[in-house]
Amino acid sequence: MAEQVKVLIIGSGPAGYTAGIYASRANLAPVIYEGNQPGGQLTQTTEIENFPGYPEGIQGPEMMEEFRRQAERFGAKIISKTVASVDFSSRPFKVVDEDGTEILAETVIISTGASAKYLGLPDEDKYRGMGVSACATCDGFFYRKKQVAVVGGGDTACEEALYLSTLAKKVYLIVRKDYLRASEVMQRRVRETENIVILFNCNTVGLFGDEVVEGAKIVEYKGTDREQIFDIDIDGFFLAIGHHPNTDIFKGQIDLDAEGYIITKAPSTRTNVEGVFAAGDCADPTYRQAISAAGTGCRAALDAERFLMEH
Ligand code: NDP
Repeated sequence: MAEQVKVLIIGSGPAGYTAGIYASRANLAPVIYEGNQPGGQLTQTTEIENFPGYPEGIQGPEMMEEFRRQAERFGAKIISKTVASVDFSSRPFKVVDEDGTEILAETVIISTGASAKYLGLPDEDKYRGMGVSACATCDGFFYRKKQVAVVGGGDTACEEALYLSTLAKKVYLIVRKDYLRASEVMQRRVRETENIVILFNCNTVGLFGDEVVEGAKIVEYKGTDREQIFDIDIDGFFLAIGHHPNTDIFKGQIDLDAEGYIITKAPSTRTNVEGVFAAGDCADPTYRQAISAAGTGCRAALDAERFLMEH
């Protein structure tokens, strides 16, 4: 017989663990599938200085370990596996994990997060956390008075470049086309910022440095007769070429937007399937912060609790 639970939480970032804390304190004995990156994106960052309650800052992995312990303290059961498929066609919902184990859930909270896109260069892995980042808000502070580069030409890239320009000495914005895709107002702000240098028609082909990033190798007009290769000196390399929500297994089961983000009925965390809720970055293309994800995790648990009371 498949195990039946009241609340099943899929994903273990700030949203999932917070949902676990609230649901377990409400005596709902939640089960959390923590997936293949327990703790989520924050385990990829170094120091977190903008999460309230840590005035001296805290390391990302350490903070997520504390979230996890807090969820376990009140009885959340954490399973170190990923979910392979879900069937939301009737209640209890059917969830099958990577081993083929089936679990039945009266409610499901999806908090599978999102992943930043990377260029796919081997050097990005080599220097991850050593100068390579996909979050200026998280890591920008460490580049005060230094030189950094942001890759991308959309609103995120412009926003990250503008943010970094208030800290760093100089910001290169590396754009693969000869124009920015960002909104007019963001483009103007970037152009009017003196310490931002836009490198149009440029692609990054490598990073270099002893242990930490010291520079990037850039190709301009790649594949044309005007092609030229040059180096820029930088201490930080920020990717801002978009995120993709981790929602592939929910396709066809719940409503997703064109980019794959789960559509919720704001201000609640309800999805179009009654009894299924979504929290954190998998349903949030806009804010993508640990604190806002934790906030929606709390709301999802309260929404699930209310749903269970009503049904
Ligand atoms: P976008 O998809 O809008 O932009 C991605 C950028 O990255 C594009 O310039 C794209 O280039 C570039 N890019 C993609 N892949 C590569 C690659 N392999 N190498 C080099 N460059 C690459 O993503 P954003 O995250 O910027 O924005 C997502 C959505 O969120 C948008 O709708 C945006 O408007 C919105 N947003 C709004 C904000 C605001 O209003 N304040 C702030 C942030 C985001 P190319 O143009 O050549 O395809």
